[in-house]
Amino acid sequence: MEFAGVGLHSGAPVTMRLLPAPAGSGIVFRRTDLDNFEIPAVGRNVAKVSYATSLMRQGVLISTTEHLLSALIGMGVDNVIVELDNLELPILDGSSLPYVGAILSVGIRSQRRRRESIRVLRPVEVREGNKFIGVYPGSGYRIDYIIDFPAPIGWQHASVDLATETYGAFIAPARTFGYKADEQRLRNMGLIRGASPENAIVLTPDGPENGPLRFIDECVRHKVLDLIGDLALAGRRIEGHVVAERAGHAMHTALVSRLMKDRSAWELARVPVAEESAEGSEAAHLPAAAMANPALIGA
Ligand SMILES: [Zn+2]
Repeated sequence: MEFAGVGLHSGAPVTMRLLPAPAGSGIVFRRTDLDNFEIPAVGRNVAKVSYATSLMRQGVLISTTEHLLSALIGMGVDNVIVELDNLELPILDGSSLPYVGAILSVGIRSQRRRRESIRVLRPVEVREGNKFIGVYPGSGYRIDYIIDFPAPIGWQHASVDLATETYGAFIAPARTFGYKADEQRLRNMGLIRGASPENAIVLTPDGPENGPLRFIDECVRHKVLDLIGDLALAGRRIEGHVVAERAGHAMHTALVSRLMKDRSAWELARVPVAEESAEGSEAAHLPAAAMANPALIGA
């Protein structure tokens, strides 16, 4: 699978390829422009986190990993090599739907080794002012996300269980968003060199400037998309219930480090066969996600 585009933050042109990897290897990024230098997608390699989640090892950077990681976790891809020839992943349409479509068209091969998840045994929480994120024991992979942003977003709550609801239909189409009022400041800071109305929802107090939205609550669904991608840095899919309020990349990755450090809070658990085979049904739901966008609203 090959993807070409520009990085949202750097504006750098990049070509990316996804290659099969042996069981147990996890998700590994490879910079083909730097002698195939490899950076595994795990929490200890998380770099500075502000507008995006980036990985760094020995001074080599891979930026804005969250949308691809989200698609891989959402679609049940455990082992893959991600080759790219620049420092930032392509933003594509601002969602993870292009990745989901490509994964479904190529297919996923089941490997002999049984899959494992991180089963949460005890609550782990991170609080910072009015921002909060916590993970709790529970079956499936349930996420409750609450945001409270200025107009036109306001208060939004998304609740999804990836064990029963399809990632491709409910989460993958949700795009990145930003406020028109912040655009010039962010451009001046060089933080959104690749941003355009084709890869991000541009919000004014009256509504999206480049509507229609794909869902009425597209913004909070995108926060769930980012969260799934950031929690992928735990190394495996989570089995438990995540609650996030006004969080962002820094809070998401702080939860990953706290969880990884507290070895009594989780165990590695074999994924039940019934859940493994559930991925096959994802394909049946994708045309609905790719073609019709439920709950469209005007700009
Ligand atoms: Zn995002």
